[in-house]
Amino acid sequence: MNDCIFCKIISGEIPSEKVYEDELVLSFKDISPEAPAHVLIIPKKHISSLNELKEEDEKIISHVFMVATEIVKKLGIADSGYRIVTNCGEDGGQTVSHIHFHLLGGRSLQWPPG
Ligand code: 5GP
Ligand code: ZN
Repeated sequence: MNDCIFCKIISGEIPSEKVYEDELVLSFKDISPEAPAHVLIIPKKHISSLNELKEEDEKIISHVFMVATEIVKKLGIADSGYRIVTNCGEDGGQTVSHIHFHLLGGRSLQWPPG
């Protein structure tokens, strides 16, 4: 867990461009944006992936989505539309083992993803 880059972002050891923060979650700009608006929303609790989610984490995950509704207003994409994605495991394309939700918008997004 000590080697987790997102835990280091939460602790401030690695800098980030914060968009939102409260006691449960942190949101910051993705370092390699795939859309004009691309932020990550992460729980402050280290959870490796969706597969490691426990019943007790239910409040954290629902909070992520509640917070997202505020962030999209801040980013000005609430009405134009956006997408929230979480990648899980190798086939899902997960590269950081700390659960995170990509929030993408600011352009027309393709479906299905590649
Ligand atoms: P994944 O591929 O695991 O779904 O998403 C990981 C995301 O984290 C990628 O979009 C990547 O650009 C982003 N990322 C990786 N390292 C850092 C970092 O140090 N800072 C920030 N802001 N984003 C990062
Ligand atoms: Zn972590």
